[in-house]
Amino acid sequence: MAGVRLSRRNVLGGLVSTAAAGVALRGTALASPAAGEPRRGDGVLRLGSNENSAGLGPAARAAFLAAIDEANRYPGAVWSALVEALTSRHQVDRSFIHVTPGSGALLSAATLAFTSASRPLITAAPTFEAPARTASRTGATVHAVPVTADGRLDLDAMLAKAAGAGLVYVCNPNNPTGGGVPGTALAAFVDRLKTVAPDARVLVDEAYFEYSDEPGYATAVPLAVADRRVLVTRTFSKVFGMAGLRVGYAIAHPDTLGALQERGPDGTLSNASLAAATAAFTDTAHIAAECARNRAVRQFTRERFEAAGYRVLPSAANFVMVDIKRDAGSFGWECRRQRIAVARPFPPLDTCMRLTIGTQAEMDEAVPAILGLLQAPPPASARLRQGSGAGPAHPPFDWIAGDGC
Ligand code: PMP
Repeated sequence: MAGVRLSRRNVLGGLVSTAAAGVALRGTALASPAAGEPRRGDGVLRLGSNENSAGLGPAARAAFLAAIDEANRYPGAVWSALVEALTSRHQVDRSFIHVTPGSGALLSAATLAFTSASRPLITAAPTFEAPARTASRTGATVHAVPVTADGRLDLDAMLAKAAGAGLVYVCNPNNPTGGGVPGTALAAFVDRLKTVAPDARVLVDEAYFEYSDEPGYATAVPLAVADRRVLVTRTFSKVFGMAGLRVGYAIAHPDTLGALQERGPDGTLSNASLAAATAAFTDTAHIAAECARNRAVRQFTRERFEAAGYRVLPSAANFVMVDIKRDAGSFGWECRRQRIAVARPFPPLDTCMRLTIGTQAEMDEAVPAILGLLQAPPPASARLRQGSGAGPAHPPFDWIAGDGC
């Protein structure tokens, strides 16, 4: 968490400029960036925030543009269309679905609803930090359980810490390490939790679900349908390429969703975001192609780092965690000076750099440049203080600039 700045002003500033760009482009050809060309709008290769560099698929793009003509109307039918698409794919009643502006807000709402000083949050270290950040803000107790040596959630160790828990956060696949836990192991965990912490909710964050090709990996949606203790969150920010359009959703028992609704954002989304989400979600051919593209570029990236002698953790997502054998915080700033944004450090894995898988053209440029930087001996100032979370001094990382969330 050290060094992350997530100011509301920055976030709003980012959204406003996105909207302004959309207006400026209206009526023009609105061409996609030339295929294969690294996107360098501000001159920086953005490989720090697990965004999808390939952008919107053609169907989502067309739906977004068409929705501009409905800008003067409140969302109605377009809202129902998305909920229809979700209920039909997930085979759940619509009362089990709650759509929100991004899924991050759902993680915070769940933490607010189910944790307190006496009802701890059980999370991992490292994992996506939104729940732990919310818990620290409210004074809720946090038990962060180290991941296994290959970066997977240690469900047994999490269970051992779970007595009296209010919420267990299971990021599957895990951000920032990349590997997932099998569906059977997760189902057994949920079952065993009943004895250890009968009142605990289990929040399964499937932000990178579509990308996972690991054997045995499975969605927890059937668990959420069968068991009111389980909630699943999904986002349109990753495989669907819609991080800037802000659409996410939760699947859970209506009572559980009610508790989130009381503490989270209401369902205020734009026509354009909803229309793009519906088109993206139903364009299964594009999703499959995007997953295949990501897999090939991820493999390319892994091979290059491994060939140079660096360990890469197993990843089923659109990023890889590379042990660069030096302080990841100061190295991240060396990369930034070369106009390559990689993620901020994720303690306690202080020597690991999380690199988002961009387009092939982006990785063709970024990977040799990063390997070139790694060939130089680390400056003395980059000496590592392992496990402390307090690496050598460097400027703070900036969420909006793409340093990683
Ligand atoms: N969960 C995980 C695991 C993530 O990595 C992210 C964003 N990087 C989110 C949730 C939040 O995504 P969003 O708010 O864009 O839906």
